Order: sequence, then C-alpha cells, then structure tokens
Amino acid sequence: MAELPGKTDYDFYPVELAEKYRADDRRIIENGASETFEERFLTKGVERFAQTTKVPLRDDQGRIYGTLGIAEDITERKQAEEALHKSEETHKNMIANISDVIGIIGVDGIMKYKSPNIEKWFGWQPQDLIGTDGWLAVHPDDLKRIQKEFLTLLEKDNSTTTLKYRYKCKEGSYKWIELTAVNLIHDPMINGVLMNYHDITDRKQVEEALRESDARLELFFTQSLDGFFFMMLDKPIQWDDSIDKDQALDYAFAHQRITKVNDALLAQYGATREQYLGLTPNTLFAHDIEYGKRVWSKFFDEGHLHIDTDERKLDDTPIWIEGDYICLYDSEGRITGHFGIQRDISERKQAEDELRHTKEVLTTVNIELQAALNREKDLARTDVLTGINNRRHLFELAEREFDVATRYQQPLSVLIFDLDHFKQVNDTFGHAVGDQMLQRVTEVACAELRSADVIGRYGGEEFVILLPMTTAQDALPLAERIRVGVAAIRIPTKKGDASATISIGIAELKHTSGESLDSILICADKAMYAAKQAGRNCTVISEQ
Ligand code: GH3
Ligand code: MG
Ligand code: MG
Repeated sequence: MAELPGKTDYDFYPVELAEKYRADDRRIIENGASETFEERFLTKGVERFAQTTKVPLRDDQGRIYGTLGIAEDITERKQAEEALHKSEETHKNMIANISDVIGIIGVDGIMKYKSPNIEKWFGWQPQDLIGTDGWLAVHPDDLKRIQKEFLTLLEKDNSTTTLKYRYKCKEGSYKWIELTAVNLIHDPMINGVLMNYHDITDRKQVEEALRESDARLELFFTQSLDGFFFMMLDKPIQWDDSIDKDQALDYAFAHQRITKVNDALLAQYGATREQYLGLTPNTLFAHDIEYGKRVWSKFFDEGHLHIDTDERKLDDTPIWIEGDYICLYDSEGRITGHFGIQRDISERKQAEDELRHTKEVLTTVNIELQAALNREKDLARTDVLTGINNRRHLFELAEREFDVATRYQQPLSVLIFDLDHFKQVNDTFGHAVGDQMLQRVTEVACAELRSADVIGRYGGEEFVILLPMTTAQDALPLAERIRVGVAAIRIPTKKGDASATISIGIAELKHTSGESLDSILICADKAMYAAKQAGRNCTVISEQ
C-alpha cells in the first residue's frame, strides 16, 4: 500500500458511487450480515468491475468493528456480457427495422420468429405464424421443392440457400418472394434457420412480361418470311468525332460477327447456320471492302440504313436484297452491333428490269413508227421526183393561204409555169434527162423562194407557186429570176447539152366577191397560155 499513502478504499470508486459503498459498509456493520455486491472501481483511471463479498469483522466480545471485502475482478466477464447485450439489442433493432421480413424456423419446422413488418408485406401478424407449421404460407405447388431444400440446408452449419417461391398473404393471394436462408442452428441466439423474405412479385411480373415478349419476338423471328440477323461487336465502339473512324471501321469489319440468324435469312443465301454464324463484314464484303466501309461509315453516322444491294448466294447466284439495318447501343451510347431485316427482292427487281426493258423497246418501236408515219405523211404530201408538194397537198396549202389572205385582206399572188416544148426535150435526150431537167427547174425555183412561199407540182411539167403578202407586180421580178435561171440550166448529155425554158403566168387576189382559189388559178393559167402565145420563155400578168 506504499504507493497509496493516505488513500481510503472509497478513493478507488467513482466519486458518485463512493457514497453508496460507504452506506453499504455502514449497513453491514449495523446488520452484522455479510453481503455480495457487484462494484465498479477505477484502477489508474480505468474502469473495472469486481464482485465483492463483504463480511462484518467482530472483536472478542462479538462487537463489529469493520468489514472485510473479498473482491474478484469480473471486468472481462462484465464486458463480454455487455457486448452480448449490445449486440442483441442491435440485432433486434435491425430485424425490427429492416424492410424485408425476417423469420426464424426451428429444426422441427415450427416458426419461432417473424419480424413485425410481415404485416405490411403479407397481412399476417407475427403471432399468426409463430408457433405454427413453418411452411404454412408456402404455395402447395412449391412446398415439396422448398422442404427438400430446407433439409439440405440443415445438413451443414452456416450454409446458405436462396429460394424463390410463392408466399401466401393472409387474405389468400400469393406473392413471389425470394428467401435467403442461413443455417444458424448452433448459434445459441438463433437456434434455427434465419430467413430473409424479399417480395419479388414486381420483379417476377416484369420477368414474366419480358419472357412473354421474348417468346413472342422469338416466334416472330423464327416464323417471319423476312430474314433477320444480329451482328455484334466484340467490344463496343464509341462512334463520334473524338475517335479515328477509319481505325474504328477496320475494327468493326474484323470484330463484328453474326451472332443470331433466322431460317428465312439462311434461305436467302442458301446457307446453313454453321456457315453463316460468326461471319464478319470482312468476309461478307470481301469482294469490295472499300465500298462496304463507305456504306458502313454512313450507317454508323446515322444509326440506320435502308439499301437495296445486289449480292450473291453461297452458290454464286445473284440475288437482290432490300435491307433495313439498325445500330444497337449500350447505356453509354456506344455501338454494340446491329440488327438487320432483309427481304429477297430479286423477283421484283427482275420484273422492274423487264418492265424497263419493255419500255425501252416500246419507245424505240414508237420512234420508228413515228418516223415511218412521218415518212408516209411526207410521201403522201410530196412529189417523188422533185421532192416538193404534190398536187393534192399543194391544193390544201393553197386553200389555207387563200383563206388567210381573204380574211385579213392581204395580197396573194399565184404563179403558174410550164416547160416549153418539153416533149422535144424528152424526145431528143430521153425521158431520164427530162426527169433530171424537172429536178433542176425545181431547184432553181426553190432557190428564189422565201420560207412563207409555197411551191408544188401542178401537173407533168407544170408548177404552181403561191406568194403570200405579194402583189402581181412584186411577183414579177421573182418570176423573171426563175425564168432566167431555168433558161441557164445546162445538162450535159452525149447528144450535147440539154436546156429548157419556161412560160410563166401571174394572177393576184383582187378581194372581189365571187373570187375563189380556182378562179385565180384559172387566171394564172390563162396568163401562162398567153405567155406561150407570146412566143414562150416569158412572163405574163393576168389582166382580169
Ligand atoms: P408546150 O407546153 O410548150 O406547148 O409544149 P409541150 O411539148 O411542153 O407540150 P405537151 O403538154 O404536149 O407535152 C408535155 C410533155 O411533158 C409530155 C410528156 O412527155 C412530158 N412530161 C410530162 N411529165 C413528165 C415527166 O414526169 N417526165 C418527163 N421526162 N417528161 C414528162
Ligand atoms: Mg409544156
Ligand atoms: Mg404542159
């Protein structure tokens, strides 16, 4: 006790307890009975616990003069107890506050504990289930499976299992739950299987809906007459301006593979699934990689592509494919691959080609027909020997000119000329030279005409010229030029040069009543005969 000079026992106690312990001592002295206390005291400022038994000390006369304390240090035990207590509290709190339902089922299958929030999820009060058959709420169809799992779980300490089954609510409906169970039979606090019930009805419904939609998609995929495929990249591509797109395309062409394909698509190419799965753009576009990459770059830029392509089946037969292709992305917007829908449009293309060909043929035929028709029309209108209007067409045109001139009171002159002694030309040089002479005369006359003037072959060696907007006086110089021109014609023959002259008659529209095309022609004809009478190779204007 040297290190504790002047200390009393009470100095070891926390100040607030020292008084209580003094009182305990006084009571033992007064009552003369020994007592056992749990005491808290300080050793060098550290709190410790002791179990102290205090007995009264008596002198020879039996008078009590003090107390004897026998103290056992129980600090360790106290701390362990306290820790256990704290942990129990924590667990209780945790179990009561956890959103999932917690339950404990004994080895005998009797429910030992259910956390209060079971009411919120399933409508039961904990006391409805505690003490009853632990599998009361399991759907009959799931029961066997769950009990089997439970027995397996019981075989091994601390083993865990996760089960999914339908759990009955108090009102009778079932909810899908996910149960995590831990074998804690040897844990004195649990002594059973600790179970965590998690309501997964929503998740189950979503899963169910997804499964249904997957099944529908799968059915569509397999039954569709269109070809479908998925082509996925080994690693996703961030397709934007921050990357080297050429490099990314190189990667995509080597590392994008057909991962799923339906029968319709295989039929389009006449390929088996084994031949088609795993193909990359590098193999599919082997014939023209540059073209493939150009198309693909646009496709990745826009995220979708609609294109008609002429492709080849596996046996090299050509096939036309109309395809819609759609990029697939991950949650970060990176391209993960693409999805394609393809139709064989070879028949349509062939029909289109045939239609186009037929159209081209028809157009050609049409052009040829038109040309033939025009030729026919020309033939119908022109004189074969001279190429100018024949008599019939000449009259048609002459009628028109006459009508216009009459209606607008415009001048119109008619000129008739006839070759002089043409019979002799034929007789002297032969009919062929006579024909040639008729052609040369036509050329000479045409050379003098304006575009609005009309010339035609009236008879064998007689010609008519209509001169709109022209009086007889104005027509005279023109007639004279023609006459002189014809007289200058020389056609060399074995019998010497053939030549000819013409006699010309001119009449003009007088705009008097009773006038007709015929009457003017008659006047012109008369004038022409007057010219013959006057010695030929001259021009006479009608005097009517
Ligand atoms: P004129 O008129 O000066 O009184 O005497 P002509 O000899 O010209 O008279 P006619 O009317 O008797 O003879 C016309 C001749 O023109 C008769 C015919 O052989 C000839 N003739 C008519 N048409 C053609 C033709 O297309 N080719 C040739 N070579 N001769 C033709
Ligand atoms: Mg004649
Ligand atoms: Mg004649």
